[in-house]
Amino acid sequence: MSLTNPSVVRELLARDHIRLKKRWGQNFLVDAHIVEKIISSVRLGSENTVLEIGAGIGTLTQKLAERAARVIAVEIDTRLIPLLRENLKTYSHAEILCQDFLEFDLKSLPPQTKVVGNLPYYITAPILEKLIAAHQHLHSALVMVQLEVAEKLSAQLGTRAASAITVFAQSFADVQHLMKVSKNCFFPKPDVDSALVRLEFLRRPRFQAPEEIFFRVVRAAFNLRRKMLKQALSQSPFLALERELVLEALARAEIDPTRRGETLSLEEFDRLALQIARAQQ
Ligand code: SAM
Repeated sequence: MSLTNPSVVRELLARDHIRLKKRWGQNFLVDAHIVEKIISSVRLGSENTVLEIGAGIGTLTQKLAERAARVIAVEIDTRLIPLLRENLKTYSHAEILCQDFLEFDLKSLPPQTKVVGNLPYYITAPILEKLIAAHQHLHSALVMVQLEVAEKLSAQLGTRAASAITVFAQSFADVQHLMKVSKNCFFPKPDVDSALVRLEFLRRPRFQAPEEIFFRVVRAAFNLRRKMLKQALSQSPFLALERELVLEALARAEIDPTRRGETLSLEEFDRLALQIARAQQ
């Protein structure tokens, strides 16, 4: 019984009296080629633990379980759990956790866990932030996100396409935009196209400034992204720094105070954060 066949999915859901909820981002993958592409891009070895975010009825989970030593499948919707259990019954090494992924403790995972998820789009940003914050515990994350988010994640820093999430993702991971995925590959069909993105976490971040200050500087720079840095940084609630200290930090970092935050490279953000850390001492 193929879970990538829309008629099969429709029948299984009808049998269990389940109407999918848009507000939980329930758009299931019904394209075998994309499922295969995801599974091969995770690059699973038989010793790997894999965590799946939003397992749905187990379309990806089954394939992950065929390859990994251990699968942890997190799904928030209690109505889907019996169907998920049924579809995974032959895989004793697949654990199903019915909970909100945002409450899941990623530190409880074995080191170098690989994460996979056709993400529920309403919480893409908090999920990505949570994964990036737990970078030390994870090997990589292969996620399906809206095309627009994929473009942001993989945008070139210093260009208009970049935003705070671009800096965060690229400071902690090698980010690869793997492929665009048409909205026709999902049931029910969502309004927009999607894309697959792979984040391979680095052993050490690409900056030296204290992490908390680096985060605050990046947020401040992008929060008022149309303003010059000297204004964006001194008016930001993320920093609470006096104008003189901001100007001094920019001068020491050799960054023109009239530039906009979105034009900064990662190395420039780092220099600036180091000087702001120094100014706050
Ligand atoms: N993995 C399945 C697939 O690829 O067909 C389903 C993907 S669907 C886009 C997203 C899934 O995430 C849904 O099953 C939804 O119920 C689940 N979900 C939504 N919010 C969640 C949350 N906070 N924690 C865990 N799962 C969630």
